[in-house]
Amino acid sequence: MTLPASHADPRDFAHVRDWVFDLDNTLYPHHINLFDQIDRNMTAYVATLLQMEPEEARLLQKRYYHDHGTTLAGLMLHHGADPNDFLEKAHAIDYSLLLPDEALGAAIKALPGRKFIFTNGTVAHAEAAARALGILDHFDEIFDIVAADYVPKPASATYDKFHSLNRIDTAHAAMFEDLPRNLVVPKALGMKTVLIVPRNLEEVVLEQWERLESTEGHAHVDYATDDLTAFLRGLI
Ligand SMILES: [Mg+2]
Repeated sequence: MTLPASHADPRDFAHVRDWVFDLDNTLYPHHINLFDQIDRNMTAYVATLLQMEPEEARLLQKRYYHDHGTTLAGLMLHHGADPNDFLEKAHAIDYSLLLPDEALGAAIKALPGRKFIFTNGTVAHAEAAARALGILDHFDEIFDIVAADYVPKPASATYDKFHSLNRIDTAHAAMFEDLPRNLVVPKALGMKTVLIVPRNLEEVVLEQWERLESTEGHAHVDYATDDLTAFLRGLI
């Protein structure tokens, strides 16, 4: 079993002009668990919309996530849910868990070229999170689930839309993501791919890779790191 490298080889990134970052669990660490609040809001939304008990709502929420890529996609398809209302309520969370991360901001700022946030959440959510982290000003554009016509990553049409809208030459771009499946398309398009994993890299990655090995493989992950700031610093 070969694991991806955890330290950047700057030569590998010398050609990169566009830097693409997922938001949740990528620009802030997994253990902050902001998504837990969103997750609970979504359960409450499903329960209210469909007049279900919380347990039943939660099962349906997870089924839609599994079957359609997002809970929202399932709610729109099967129940005609209003996406804006859903997204607004799902992201009504407490951002005070996110503290300014000056080191990350400096590392992003130092990268040569354009920087993007590419999220399955909303612009409002990305702005609130990035603002709390003190890194919002370092990004040129945010591409969200609304811009993606509510079709989430990893659908290849959504990457196409993001790249063409921003005139990104994927041969000169890199993508940072915490979900391995969201790196498959970027890798196929010639991007450098970096998987952000939770702390205690070795343990988690080994576990993850053992699982992946038998299913999708990991050829689409060039690097894996549990420290985005240190990784970015290593590129310059
Ligand atoms: Mg993420």
